[in-house]
Amino acid sequence: GVDIDALSDSLIELDEDNVKLLGSATSLDRKTVLDVCSIHGIKPRFVYRPNEEKLMKKLSDEADAFPQPPPPPSELVRRAPVVTIMGHVDHGKTTLLDALRSSSIVSTEFGGITQHIGAFSVQLPGTKSRVTFLDTPGHAAFKAMRERGARATDIVVLVVAADDGVNEQTVESIKYAREAGVPIVVAINKCDKPQADPAKTRRDLMQHDIVVEDMGGDIQVVEISALQGTNIKALQEALILQAELMDLKSTPKGLSEGVVIESTTAQGLGKVCTMVVQRGTVKRGSVLVAGTAWGRVRSLTDEHNKTLKEAGPSTPARISGWRENLPPPGEAILEVESEQRAQEVIEFRRRRIMDERAEKDRDVIEARRSEEREIYLQNRQKLLNKGMRYGSTYHHVVMKEAKKRAMEATSEPTEKPVLRVIIRSDVDGTLEALLNVLDTYDSQLCDLQIVDFGVGAPIDNHIELAAETNAVIYCFNTPISAGIRTLANSKDVTVEQFNVIYRLIDALKDKLSSQIPPKT
Ligand code: GDP
Repeated sequence: GVDIDALSDSLIELDEDNVKLLGSATSLDRKTVLDVCSIHGIKPRFVYRPNEEKLMKKLSDEADAFPQPPPPPSELVRRAPVVTIMGHVDHGKTTLLDALRSSSIVSTEFGGITQHIGAFSVQLPGTKSRVTFLDTPGHAAFKAMRERGARATDIVVLVVAADDGVNEQTVESIKYAREAGVPIVVAINKCDKPQADPAKTRRDLMQHDIVVEDMGGDIQVVEISALQGTNIKALQEALILQAELMDLKSTPKGLSEGVVIESTTAQGLGKVCTMVVQRGTVKRGSVLVAGTAWGRVRSLTDEHNKTLKEAGPSTPARISGWRENLPPPGEAILEVESEQRAQEVIEFRRRRIMDERAEKDRDVIEARRSEEREIYLQNRQKLLNKGMRYGSTYHHVVMKEAKKRAMEATSEPTEKPVLRVIIRSDVDGTLEALLNVLDTYDSQLCDLQIVDFGVGAPIDNHIELAAETNAVIYCFNTPISAGIRTLANSKDVTVEQFNVIYRLIDALKDKLSSQIPPKT
């Protein structure tokens, strides 16, 4: 029962499983259509229409391998805290990071040669406890991570210079930490200076609801001199204590997860990034995705440029092996089973980004359409003059007129096919927006006649009117009762319901093109 002529001329609309010929109501499975086409030597022109519901389901089910289910409690082991140092400019953040870095450097064979890779790990002398510090320029990295929803920091060290007290960026840092729900440990710095006034700093902090321990609060505070290296160990101990309170745990097993701290192109290594592992263990050969970047790990190194065999939870590592794109800082990294899977995931993400962009474009179009509402209002009189009525109060008048017009239309010697429609909408605004768009329809091939339009759900009269004038009822955001459905079915009237304007318009356009007879 396939019309071969129609087949060769129509666009063939596809969704995942079915094929529909534009201009016909029949829906055939893809294979049948392809078979018929090949038998008759027809080259079909396909328009791909993704089945949006299925697409959305895929999104949540399988297309993106993220997020993973939480690890079983039996796999959980303690992990080092990941710490970000924040505070006002010149209060000593860089100096403190240097002091922390060199606090454990003596114990390594690599002497003082460290590379800035965005993060480093320090062992508290005389213990096994470690702390991971992020040393990417404070706010920017923190902000990027927040925006991407990645939580890369467990604790914030708030550095406040004792000779200056709370300053603008101190307040900002407090705000960031609060919003991210990250606990603060206060380091009162520059305590070696004669002008230092740690007591005033404590009072300043109280003004911003940071009540430190020795003022009756529960926020730890350590007085330090980053420059002279005083009390650095005490600060580290405070961090370890804070971490214990938080009971930080993760699993070294399963597919790895982490976060990009920095990324760059390094000579001889190509695209590299520093990541802090949050879960699992990253090794050579692990396949990772980050946003729409992916790679197979070629090498792992630490901040001393020493090769690591692997990197488990809370370990910072510089990773080489990224292909095509650089992973963006702040982005979540996820390990997948294979390169093929990595490509699937990033392909899916690319498509999602494009879909989101298209959605935004549509919003812009919607906005423009409602601006055009004004123009519609000016044209409304013209519309009424064409013999249309606004609102169902004058329904009987409309009925009469519509019948008359329908009679005229059928008796007119025109070859142009006609599509008659009745528009029902939820409120004035949307009705006018719809009519406005419809009013701009002008085709040499098909006539669009608006038989009736109004606000509110369709009632019996509308069904009857539709039946008599052979019109299709398009509803926007209005309820359709079961009774009306039954009546419509019995009278062979099509009632279509939409809750997105552009979908209604698209459906109407499809309907219009379906009225156009195939070329002979
Ligand atoms: P940042 O902008 O917060 O990174 O601050 P820096 O670490 O660059 O420090 C700013 C200035 O304060 C530099 O001249 C440091 O030498 C000095 N400084 C940092 N910590 C101390 C300290 O504990 N005592 C003294 N006297 N000066 C310090």
